[in-house]
Amino acid sequence: MKFLSITAALIIAFITHSQKESPKIMIGIVVDQMCYDYLYRFEKNYSKRGFKKLMNNGSHLKNMHFNYIPTYTGPGHASIYTGTTPRNHGIIANDWLQRASLQHVNCVGDNGVKGIESSALYGKSSPHRLNVQTVTDQLKKSYTKSKVISISIKDRGAILPGGHNSDGTYWFDYGKGTFITSSYYKTKLPKWLQDFNENNNAASYADVWVPLLKESAYSAIDDSPYEKVLAGKTSPTFPYDIPNLCKTGASLQPFAMSPFANTLLTDLALNAIEHEHLGEDESPDMLCISYSSPDIAGHAFGPDSKEIEDIYIRLDLELARFIESLEKLFGKDGFILFLTADHGVVPVPQKLVDEGFSGGYLFVDQMMNQLRTSCKKQFGMDFILGQDNLNIYLNYNLINSYQDSIDMDQILSLFEEELRNIEGVKQTARRSELMKGIQYKDRLLQMLFEGFDPKRSGDLLLILQPGYLPKSTLSLNPHQGTSHGSGYSYDTHVPCLWYGGGIRKNEILEPLNITDIGPTLLELLNLPRLESMVGTTIKAIKP
Ligand SMILES: [Zn+2]
Repeated sequence: MKFLSITAALIIAFITHSQKESPKIMIGIVVDQMCYDYLYRFEKNYSKRGFKKLMNNGSHLKNMHFNYIPTYTGPGHASIYTGTTPRNHGIIANDWLQRASLQHVNCVGDNGVKGIESSALYGKSSPHRLNVQTVTDQLKKSYTKSKVISISIKDRGAILPGGHNSDGTYWFDYGKGTFITSSYYKTKLPKWLQDFNENNNAASYADVWVPLLKESAYSAIDDSPYEKVLAGKTSPTFPYDIPNLCKTGASLQPFAMSPFANTLLTDLALNAIEHEHLGEDESPDMLCISYSSPDIAGHAFGPDSKEIEDIYIRLDLELARFIESLEKLFGKDGFILFLTADHGVVPVPQKLVDEGFSGGYLFVDQMMNQLRTSCKKQFGMDFILGQDNLNIYLNYNLINSYQDSIDMDQILSLFEEELRNIEGVKQTARRSELMKGIQYKDRLLQMLFEGFDPKRSGDLLLILQPGYLPKSTLSLNPHQGTSHGSGYSYDTHVPCLWYGGGIRKNEILEPLNITDIGPTLLELLNLPRLESMVGTTIKAIKP
């Protein structure tokens, strides 16, 4: 009897203890295109209450890297929230060439759904191409009362974190300047979001963007030859009259790349917490936020621009405001928050070249023309189906119709030979090589394997030299602005900060993979590990 009661007491103690350990609300923040060094490069202008609060009072994982190629937004968000790589979750890029339809499909594009209160172009999206479950899916499965809300300016930034069964996944409509969803999720927007859209839309947040601080506070110069000049501007300099630029370009793109979009998204997050009653009951809820504007601005101006410096100084204050609200609502220990990025970015390659570093451009259509020409010359026929994300797709039907005289290996050998002489191409890998599924000694080859899906990827995959970007010959001013996608550390090394109840104050130097975040989230939420996960739980963030 005595033994039984001790056991019962232990069980009760265990239950109480584990209930205590689950936070009431878990907040995931992804900053699109945030490089690790932004934590330090802009630090002198950060407040004590934003990034620095997370860095100094939580767990700071200083060596967090993406572990696959290509490092784009879709794969990034999917990998963070599934704890696995594109070869398992299937989001191999933002868009890819679909062999069967010969169409370039979007990772969240879905013609089988309708936009809800959206304009024509922006609502047809869902997670139907995400092949595995997310942490948010598992939370919904385990706790029927748990709620998942996911928001972003970009559709993929909201859809992939929110998973297959969210209570609300909302993204920005570039036509209307409001937040929308699709019929995959619901048939109408909740009343609170309708009200929010009425009062808090792009038009009511757009303003003239001037630097927040005095001139001497910035380390970047405003006018540089490496920045894009926006339509309606004559130089890449402040001030940016956002409402006017939107009018000139008949697009809300200037708003989406401005710090005002970050403010709008923060307000949406706070409204979602209030009106969806997140964190109010014992079942843990999850709110996923992805700030897209730093990426949209980063592509145009590059990481060394005054615009990016100012965006982060302002984002720090949004973060401060958001953390303070969380602490007021849930208490210092009532929530857990993590912040990371979906990829980094390469400095503008032309700037690298001008400064004497490795870098440059690969003009992809020029390269493809060269391959098509030599293919015709050698075999009398062009066997290329298309190209996307440095994946070359071959036309299987055409090759099969020549089965007696030509095989795939001959074609690939010819292309490899040609590519060896093209500036910027570092190495290539064949589908047959990547299908082997072995552990590769070559780090970049291993990353390519982790990003490879046999159903969706091409037949010959290219890796570029460090500092190189693929470009279209048609792109205007290719030497202005920049991008990402490689397996080099400028694209893979991102911030990873954890803060809140039960998170230890700690600096962790050991190298970690982005796929370690998913299993760690499950552990903190006391949920079982997902079969598809490849990451390892990060133990050092707990006391
Ligand atoms: Zn991007």
